[in-house]
Amino acid sequence: MLLINCPFCGPRNHTEFDYGSDASVLRPADDAPESEWFAYVYLRSNPKGAHTEYWQHALGCRSWIKVKRDTLTHDIAGVSLANALAQREQQ
Ligand SMILES: [Zn+2]
Repeated sequence: MLLINCPFCGPRNHTEFDYGSDASVLRPADDAPESEWFAYVYLRSNPKGAHTEYWQHALGCRSWIKVKRDTLTHDIAGVSLANALAQREQQ
């Protein structure tokens, strides 16, 4: 079982959350070449170790969060709000 510490609700079982996507992938510029868009939409790495992911607290406050998780051990190194404005307010 993973215990994810939601910034609003506190520690919760991972079954309350839905995995969103890889948070390390950056959206290309609107005028970027098609190859960059292809990579953004379809290509993903499968890292062994530290990874940053988007999760949504679907059965709780419905907030989107960024989770730094080790894909090998499932240890969670940190959780922050996914929204950039909210991240600035937390600092
Ligand atoms: Zn929550």
